[in-house]
Amino acid sequence: MPVLSGLYLPELWIWKVSEQMKDVFGRTIDYLRISITDRCNLRCRYCMPENLSLVSMREILTYEEIEQICRAAAELGIQKIKITGGEPLVRRDCPQLIGKLKRIPGITQVTLTTNGILLEKALPELIAQGLDAVNISLDTLDSNQYEKMTGKRELQTVWKSLRRAADSSLRVKINVVLQKGWNEKEWLQLAEISRRYPVDVRFIELMPIGAGKEAEGISQEELLQNLHAQFPQIRKDTRIHGNGPAVYYRIPGFQGSIGLISAIHGKFCQSCNRLRLTSQGKLKPCLCFAESVDLRKILRGEEESRAAGMKPREEIETDGQKEIRENLRQAILIAVRQKPPGHEFGIREQVTERLPMVQIGG
Ligand code: SAM
Ligand code: SF4
Repeated sequence: MPVLSGLYLPELWIWKVSEQMKDVFGRTIDYLRISITDRCNLRCRYCMPENLSLVSMREILTYEEIEQICRAAAELGIQKIKITGGEPLVRRDCPQLIGKLKRIPGITQVTLTTNGILLEKALPELIAQGLDAVNISLDTLDSNQYEKMTGKRELQTVWKSLRRAADSSLRVKINVVLQKGWNEKEWLQLAEISRRYPVDVRFIELMPIGAGKEAEGISQEELLQNLHAQFPQIRKDTRIHGNGPAVYYRIPGFQGSIGLISAIHGKFCQSCNRLRLTSQGKLKPCLCFAESVDLRKILRGEEESRAAGMKPREEIETDGQKEIRENLRQAILIAVRQKPPGHEFGIREQVTERLPMVQIGG
């Protein structure tokens, strides 16, 4: 292998790409969260506003477009991808997309966040396509409460998926959002899932995004006090559990860990490593603010109307493709440079993002 100034060339390449993905605050951005749909088979009250009108499928990125963006992102240094939504498993062939993204050179990890309703059936294909881990969202263990919070009587379906996933080769995490007056008293039963199953249970602070503005969350401080009171032997878990900002704790006798994601009270922005791509192709530097870079425009040409009569992919000449790839790379670097030092969820007037979470991708 050729050596240059003591570095092997692949090492030099990795150093170069991670340097360009450093933002102005010195954070290296190597993680892309992609919403592949704004459709969902649930209506979680803090995520999906009532009367939300869906955009037409033409406005949603195609799988080919998502793949093109991921190839450009991987060339710059993105290594990890999360597929989310809306509910990603309602979009046809989601596992095949995961397989394609997993095969992109430079992508080391593809994970999925789902409400679990369609997961049991999709699991074999997701595993065959190389999915690395799955997060299942579950806010209550009470069927009636589940129906009130999500609009569907599907708790048993999610529970079956969860057990099947826990038995599989996948790493599994449960996402819980606690809300005052709804499920805050269930924190203990939900935490106990990680005693019975080898899964991490992560409590995420409610964020004032979309319908989340109308609800009231529980602070992680309060939750941690409750955990300490219930489990005096609880200890910080220093092992790395994923790509995110969760702080993990171990409780003796539990198979999994408890994660706390203090989105509001424990600002973790100094270690933020992510960009978010909405289902309509907007690349967001930060969840809190409306700023974004429009990648769909680059992919489809300046006039959006061309989308209707867009040239089939094979007809776009190679030079055109090269130009698109280069423009995508430049646009991704702009989003990296635009990353703010941190969110301002604590000051409601400064939260400029107006889209609901279901349209951004949580
Ligand atoms: N449908 C999938 C699911 O429910 O996991 C993926 C999309 S959902 C938007 C992703 C995650 O965002 C879920 O765990 C959900 O609980 C969380 N979420 C939605 N709105 C939120 C809010 N306002 N604050 C905090 N988390 C939120
Ligand atoms: Fe759908 Fe997930 Fe939002 Fe619930 S949290 S409405 S399952 S996108």
